[in-house]
Amino acid sequence: MIVASKIKNVVRDVIDFPKPGIVFKDITPILKDPLLCADIVIELGLQVKGLKVDVVAGIESRGFLFGPQLAQLLKVPFVPIRKEGKLPYKTIKQSYELEYGSAVIECHEDAIINGQHVLIHDDLLATGGTVVAATKLIQQLGGAVTGYSFIISLDFLNGKKRLAAYSDQVFALANY
Ligand code: AMP
Repeated sequence: MIVASKIKNVVRDVIDFPKPGIVFKDITPILKDPLLCADIVIELGLQVKGLKVDVVAGIESRGFLFGPQLAQLLKVPFVPIRKEGKLPYKTIKQSYELEYGSAVIECHEDAIINGQHVLIHDDLLATGGTVVAATKLIQQLGGAVTGYSFIISLDFLNGKKRLAAYSDQVFALANY
């Protein structure tokens, strides 16, 4: 079975979480299947094979599940992008709109070296607001976003279209 089908078989729809009207894609069942986790890391790596990647930046919190493993596979550093107030050192901040609310993300001011090519990873692409905010953080530090990597894309929310202004290299393992 291909990895997209395996993912779709285990991902759980949670209705009205965290707000009425949202169908939340719960990826935690994936984590119970170590063979599927291994397949996912390999497939994420294959999808970005043609890209120049110096750093993988992952977004809190579900971007921390596979982002560091993808970085290890690509033999590049991993940079955490976190919700406001979590990172201990000096940070830069960016606010953004979510499918279900608004938030602020930040990264350390020395997270990216000027000119580095950065692959942004998160578990799921919805409207694209989160990764656009992450892109702005990276650009502020002089990084160039070379692409976006997700486990899941909710294609009907047109996030990919929104990301086209930054990169057309948008990859997901399972599309809805
Ligand atoms: P967006 O900024 O709209 O692309 O939202 C993406 C971020 O919000 C990711 O970090 C996701 O984990 C989370 N998210 C948004 N919508 C959903 C959803 N329907 N199911 C699971 N996670 C979601």
